Amino acid sequence: MKLNGNSLDEVLMKETLSDEDIVFLLGLTEPEDCKKLQEAAYKKTTELMGNKVYYRGLIEVSNVCTVDCRYCGIRKDNYGVHRYTLSKEEILEAAMFAAENGYGSICLQAGERNDPKFVSFISDCLREIHRKTVSESLPNGLGITLSLGDQTKEVYEEWAEASGNLRYLARFESSNQELFDFLHNVLHKKSKQLEHRLQCLQWLKECGYQVGTGVMIGIPGQTLEDLCSDIRLYQKLEADMIGMGPYLMSEGGDLKSLGQTENKKLFQLSLNMLAVTRLVMGNINIAAATAMQVLDPQGRETAISYGANVVMPNLTPLQYREGYQLYDKKPGLKDDPETFGLKLEERINSKGREVGWNLSGSSRKWLNRTVLMALIWEAA
Ligand code: SAH
Repeated sequence: MKLNGNSLDEVLMKETLSDEDIVFLLGLTEPEDCKKLQEAAYKKTTELMGNKVYYRGLIEVSNVCTVDCRYCGIRKDNYGVHRYTLSKEEILEAAMFAAENGYGSICLQAGERNDPKFVSFISDCLREIHRKTVSESLPNGLGITLSLGDQTKEVYEEWAEASGNLRYLARFESSNQELFDFLHNVLHKKSKQLEHRLQCLQWLKECGYQVGTGVMIGIPGQTLEDLCSDIRLYQKLEADMIGMGPYLMSEGGDLKSLGQTENKKLFQLSLNMLAVTRLVMGNINIAAATAMQVLDPQGRETAISYGANVVMPNLTPLQYREGYQLYDKKPGLKDDPETFGLKLEERINSKGREVGWNLSGSSRKWLNRTVLMALIWEAA
């Protein structure tokens, strides 16, 4: 394949990719072309991030949700879901498991709730987790990523104060305004606004979080140009980490009639998006989404070979997992935390990477930015 007379090798050697280059790379389908893209992304990851893959133990705190994102299996109006919220003890137990088993960091995710009771419940959990997990091997306690949706700036401040070293993941889902509105807005219901999510990301940055965002890939109607704009928005937001994965159909969602892109095509597109994001964004953390595993049994480790350096083993107590299915055929509903992390290690090793045991795995981009800011303050 060639673009304007440039071979794929020449495009991959470029220091800066144009929009046209990005669209070209995203659209690769021939196995030997995809392999070249994979090798370039893997090499760049090794150069900038080293050889380690970090574990973030995922704790799905609650499936109670006040919004109605149309693609999501736990949206508010899906009455088929039995709603749960873990107790503080259950959350702490999962967090302690992570700390004691060398995970280095966790991610607390839930449906979207803004009520004061929930906000202070999270603050409480954060304080306890931090207090209980400071140890010789984790001098700053477990790294904690929150994925709890849109909140006020005051809430983000409260949570940041409750625990040091916080990260936050809030995907903007799609930078295409029309597509975003189609996915989130139903007449007479509480809806999500793209502009507001971007405002939240800005607040999070101002509160000192390592900020992660991302999109769904292969949403019906989404073009390669849209995905290129998504990457441009990652750049504009100066994201420290990216979590993104394929758009998958959900029985409990409100978009069943749209279907889903064919598996093999969707898998390759998702891998291409990971690789190009690595090439453009450089030294950020990129997660190998669980959703990749739905499309291919080796989804997560293949994502690692395309530039991902974070995986999120599920630590939600087994009896609640059925209740947290954002999309159909979610894998790992029965994965036992006791053995899963070690089995995953073997698969990570098979891609030439090693697990960053007992490391919280901060985004290098964020570390550089924070160190730089400290130097500027010192000089001022
Ligand atoms: N309430 C939080 C967490 C949302 S769930 C928030 O608003 O940020 C985490 C992510 O799951 C979402 O950001 C979305 O990108 C993804 N997701 C939800 N439904 C999905 C589906 N059907 N297919 C693929 N990803 C989905």
